[in-house]
Amino acid sequence: MAEKKDAKKSAAPAKKKEKQFKPYKPGKYCPKCGAGVRLAEHKNRLSCGKCGYFEKK
Ligand SMILES: [Zn+2]
Repeated sequence: MAEKKDAKKSAAPAKKKEKQFKPYKPGKYCPKCGAGVRLAEHKNRLSCGKCGYFEKK
């Protein structure tokens, strides 16, 4: 009698984690650095991470 032994149970299927990209609002460009460098949005101001420029909202 040949008994079939189950192979090791296959590992649970890996859960898929998909990164969700938030739609980025096209913001203002830094007037100092020029186009291509966007100003980061903060609560009350916009700031450039490159040159430190910021302006109030
Ligand atoms: Zn800048």
